[in-house]
Amino acid sequence: MHPDLRGFALPAAFLAAVLALSGCSTIHPPKGAALPAAPSDPLLLVSIDGLHPERINAQDSPNIARLAAGGVQARWMTPSYPSLTFPNHYTIATGLRPDRHGIVHNSMIDGELGTFRLSDREAVGNGAWWGGEPVWVGAEKAGMPTATMFWPGSEAEVAGVRPTRWHVYDESSSDAERAATVAGWLLEPEPTRPRLATLYFHAVDTAAHTYGPDSDEARAALASIDAAIGDLLTRLAEGGRLAHTNIVLVSDHGMAPVPPGNQISVGDMVAMEQARLSSIGQVVLVQPKPGFEAEVEARLLGRQDHYECWRRAELPARWHYGTHPRIPAIVCQMDEGWDALLPQQMEARARGGMRGSHGYDPALPSMRAVFIASGPAFRSGAVIDPIDNVDVYPLLVRLLGIPAADHDGDPEALLPALR
Ligand code: AMP
Ligand code: ZN
Ligand code: ZN
Repeated sequence: MHPDLRGFALPAAFLAAVLALSGCSTIHPPKGAALPAAPSDPLLLVSIDGLHPERINAQDSPNIARLAAGGVQARWMTPSYPSLTFPNHYTIATGLRPDRHGIVHNSMIDGELGTFRLSDREAVGNGAWWGGEPVWVGAEKAGMPTATMFWPGSEAEVAGVRPTRWHVYDESSSDAERAATVAGWLLEPEPTRPRLATLYFHAVDTAAHTYGPDSDEARAALASIDAAIGDLLTRLAEGGRLAHTNIVLVSDHGMAPVPPGNQISVGDMVAMEQARLSSIGQVVLVQPKPGFEAEVEARLLGRQDHYECWRRAELPARWHYGTHPRIPAIVCQMDEGWDALLPQQMEARARGGMRGSHGYDPALPSMRAVFIASGPAFRSGAVIDPIDNVDVYPLLVRLLGIPAADHDGDPEALLPALR
């Protein structure tokens, strides 16, 4: 780490010491009483897919640990239902629950638009799938340039607006390349420098799925991302920009171990000719075919071995899920550590070892996500109570000084993070 980095939290500590010496009892101004001192400070939103807060430590992720120690860390952040990548990244960007922004799953079916899959570039880039107003759209509307190094939704024109700079998702680009591009943006002179930038890393999620969340591979993936973030922070510090950049680092969900054999075939859940499944995995979305409604309901509804199913209108209220037309009649939720697979996937998977999955109940400790914030707007060395991921959006718009669009968050929830 660049030596300047260790100093970037100093002003707060210094101020605290001076105030303490002078007998003044108020270290910080009233929380959130004002917008950040320099409203033009750029905001960098970073996501590490699948990172659980308890995985952050000085050995595996020294730069992230230091960022948290010098800024604010929530004990954890609760993801929205379902605890999957696209629904939650877009919730963080909009402050809307998936039931309201319409990205109700990574895989879904819409009566008019057809099917949506992460690998379908046309669907992912079609703004008709993406509801609400992501924060980069609000910023662009306010005349602020934005730039995204990947974020679900950022490839689509949403409400007629795209980030000034955006990239088609490319999983093969390295952690270092992604971070270096973003560092370059944030070091540009004021007229072109983005006011809001995003940076997304997939590799912890990928390794943890394949080898388990406690694997050496998942640790190595985190170490690589941490090094890329360390280089980014060093470059900002060397360019004199670190003290003027607010950084919010999140994850979308955590990860649970899936022991070998913890798998069921969706063909054993429901007769495939009686229902259309828009998704498998941990949240199985089931639309009975006409004439088979009663039979499919009788087979699925209620508690089953390793999963539970509800009619969409009867889902647990705390999931805030079940009204969007893309959610079919029945939602089946797998128990923690269990996967529902296609019949043809069963054999190969059964030969494998420990794996990892998410998509389980967001209230489970294993599904907890990360929230860390650091920079001139944030307190230094503070640990705050758990937050909900719909509360990030009102913080982001506050930092940018732009109006909030309709959202489900609590604008007060993150005031304890601010100076
Ligand atoms: P999940 O199935 O919920 O684990 O989703 C994680 C996967 O989403 C990772 O393998 C990423 O490569 C992929 N992913 C993340 N962002 C994007 C994007 N913008 N477009 C397509 N795929 C993405
Ligand atoms: Zn994810
Ligand atoms: Zn994943």
